[in-house]
Amino acid sequence: MVTDACRDWRNEIAATAAGRPDPLRAQGLAAHLEGCPHCRDELAELAPVARALQLVDPDRLADPPAPPEGLGRSVVSAIREVRRSDARAARWRRAAIAATAVAGAAAMVAGVLALSTRTDGPDAQIVAFASAPDGVVASVELSEAAWGTQIALDVDGLADETDDVYWLWLSASDGDRVAAGTFRGDGHMQMSAALPLEDAARVWVTDASDEVVLDAPVD
Ligand SMILES: [Zn+2]
Repeated sequence: MVTDACRDWRNEIAATAAGRPDPLRAQGLAAHLEGCPHCRDELAELAPVARALQLVDPDRLADPPAPPEGLGRSVVSAIREVRRSDARAARWRRAAIAATAVAGAAAMVAGVLALSTRTDGPDAQIVAFASAPDGVVASVELSEAAWGTQIALDVDGLADETDDVYWLWLSASDGDRVAAGTFRGDGHMQMSAALPLEDAARVWVTDASDEVVLDAPVD
C-alpha cells in the first residue's frame, strides 16, 4: 500500500537508486524500506536503470550534448498523467520517478539520451498516449523526414492483452488517415508515415477489428 510516508520517501528512493543517497536520511529510509514492500519493489525496479546510467562515463563523450528539447515536456506530461488517472497511476508514477532519477544524474543522463536519440532532428516531438487501456503505457516520438514523418513507438503492456496485429496511424486535421505500419506486442519500434509532421493532428493505434486502442492529439 502506498502511504503518505511512501510519498515522502519517493525522491530519496530515486536518489538512492542513482547512487546519491542523502546520508542524513539513509537510516530513516532503511527503516521505511524494512516495513514497506511497495517501496522495496520501487527501489529494486529503479536500481538497474540507475546502474546502467552510471556505466556511461561523461568524460568519454567527445562532445557532451545538452538534454534533448522534449525531455522537460515528457516529464511534465508523465506527471500530469499521474494526477489525471488513478487506474494507471502506479505505472506512470514509476515513469515519473525514473525520470526524476534520470534528471538527478544530469551529465550522464544527457549522454545516454543523446546516444539513444542521436538520429532525431531538432523538431522531434514526444507524445504520450493519454487514451490507452489499463496497464498499457505507450508514447511516440515524431520527427520530420524527407518522406513525411518518422515515428519511434514505445509500447509496454499490449502484449499482455492479445497477440493481435496493431496498426499505427497518423491523421491530418481534415481527418485523412495515413498508415505508418503494423506491429505486434511490446517494444521500441521505428515506423514512418507519408504525412508531413506539420500536418499531423492525431496519432493513434487500432487493433485487428479496427477498434481504437491508443489515441493522442499532436500539437
Ligand atoms: Zn513505502
